[in-house]
Amino acid sequence: MLVARELTKEFQSGTHQLTVLRDVSFAVPQGAFVAIVGPSGSGKTTLLGLLAGLDTPSRGTVILDGVDLGSLTEDQRAKLRGEKVGFIFQSFQLIPTLTALENVQVPLELRGESGASGRAVELLTRVGLRDRMDHFPSQLSGGEQQRVAIARAFSNRPRILFADEPTGNLDANTGGRIVELIEELNRESGTSVVLVTHDLALAGRAGRMVRLADGVVVEDTGSGMRDAGSGDAPGRSSRVERHPDGSPHPASRFPVPDNEEVA
Ligand code: ADP
Ligand code: MG
Repeated sequence: MLVARELTKEFQSGTHQLTVLRDVSFAVPQGAFVAIVGPSGSGKTTLLGLLAGLDTPSRGTVILDGVDLGSLTEDQRAKLRGEKVGFIFQSFQLIPTLTALENVQVPLELRGESGASGRAVELLTRVGLRDRMDHFPSQLSGGEQQRVAIARAFSNRPRILFADEPTGNLDANTGGRIVELIEELNRESGTSVVLVTHDLALAGRAGRMVRLADGVVVEDTGSGMRDAGSGDAPGRSSRVERHPDGSPHPASRFPVPDNEEVA
């Protein structure tokens, strides 16, 4: 689903060059839930930006769903992001003048999707905000705002979701529930998730941990598939339907009417 090969990112600062990422390589299979951990300043946000096509590496390759991001123009990358990528940020980044419902619905409408309102309601219900849909962000707690952001991030049925310290502004309890929710949606939808956190307890919920230190991968615990090598594992195959070719179906268990697929 996502392949990073020897990613290096350098910044020129005055006369000297700062190497923020050095030869970072790993692959994220479709449907995996991977945590990237490391101390502040280790390059986590920079790496996420490269993987999501928001920024370009100094050297190395990112292949997102079979597409080499280095071969695309900035406009083409933006289009690919709109089609395949979801984001969740530490600071929620909701639009303050829109209600919870509108924050989820408006991006769908801008994409020209029919049934945006119905889908937004379904998603907000799924994240437990059925009774809060008409509230503005300022009327919601931090955890509730992040739930709106999660609903919005899943609204385009992304193939892959990037989350940069999504619990950083939340207390431990609320943060734990947010990661649980992301994990549930990962399982139900087959969306791959790359979660950045410096909280090892939260990272432990992921199937796999990639640890960065000073821009280098110093640990990588595995493939990221909870049922690695066994598509028939109990408790997994029942939750993610698969195409005949064995790949997880991205929208199979997503509890939202899917007009494209019903049609
Ligand atoms: P993390 O998310 O792990 O805290 P970052 O990826 O934000 O780390 O930053 C890693 C390092 O790269 C830091 O030393 C930071 O100062 C530096 N850095 C990030 N962006 C830039 C930039 N645009 N110009 C110069 N240095 C940068
Ligand atoms: Mg960061």
